[in-house]
Amino acid sequence: MQFNDEWIRFLNMQKCKFDKLCEKTHNLPYFRVFLHTTKIITFYAAFFKNMPLKHNLLGATLAMKGASNMLMQKAREQIVQYGKLMLSAGLTRGTGGNLSVYDHELKLMAISPSGIPYEDTTIEDVVIMDLEGNVVEGTRAPSSEHMMHAIVYQRRSDIGGMIHVHSTYATTIACLNESLPAVDYLVAFSGGKEVPCAPYATFGTKELAVNAVETMGHLNAVLLANHGMNCVAHDLPMAFAITEQLEFCAELYVRARSIGIPVILSDQEMDHMLTRFAHYGQKKKD
Ligand SMILES: [Zn+2]
Repeated sequence: MQFNDEWIRFLNMQKCKFDKLCEKTHNLPYFRVFLHTTKIITFYAAFFKNMPLKHNLLGATLAMKGASNMLMQKAREQIVQYGKLMLSAGLTRGTGGNLSVYDHELKLMAISPSGIPYEDTTIEDVVIMDLEGNVVEGTRAPSSEHMMHAIVYQRRSDIGGMIHVHSTYATTIACLNESLPAVDYLVAFSGGKEVPCAPYATFGTKELAVNAVETMGHLNAVLLANHGMNCVAHDLPMAFAITEQLEFCAELYVRARSIGIPVILSDQEMDHMLTRFAHYGQKKKD
């Protein structure tokens, strides 16, 4: 089935309007499930073909669906790519941990599937969900920690990517139910002077999701007691960079404590670091 350029151009102009319309009627996610079915796309495209384009928002949207085929293509690719990187960087083991990307315009989250090894995960395995926990597109079960991701996007408009890991050193500190203090200036990647530890709750529960988001507050990271660590950022690549840096700091802290008493940086120095880090990534290094 072919869609002409006029339809695609029209859609690009009308997409925001259409999304707002669907959002108003609370049926966007369900609409999009329908859009995924080729037979239905074909049917509606044929049905709307002879109608005036300016009255044909649905037809135009279907035209784009026919062209792109899947929701949140780039986010799906990032989930696959960074899942593999989590594994190769030693930030998690087996199928442990999970990651997500949030699209603020669509109000939808792409999240890793449950129980599929990162090496085997494909973009089709990534699950698209709304923040109420409904699967909008995908045939796999979403990560068991999807609530822990959704609640962050509900409460933080500045966040577009999140990584949850069971990394060895951050989890070691979390097993002591302690915070990761400023043992190195890189702790400023957390957006604060330390990475706090959220109280324990069973994995996959709303209680854990609430504990994690409330302990994290405005920061970029939080340890989860006897479990692991969450890192968030405006996008997934930055969330990954934060995860790597904080796991390194956690390793330093565990190693330092094993041979002596680590010296923790002063609040004043960390305030200075936080000012410097506020602009991290926006300009080239000196
Ligand atoms: Zn976990």
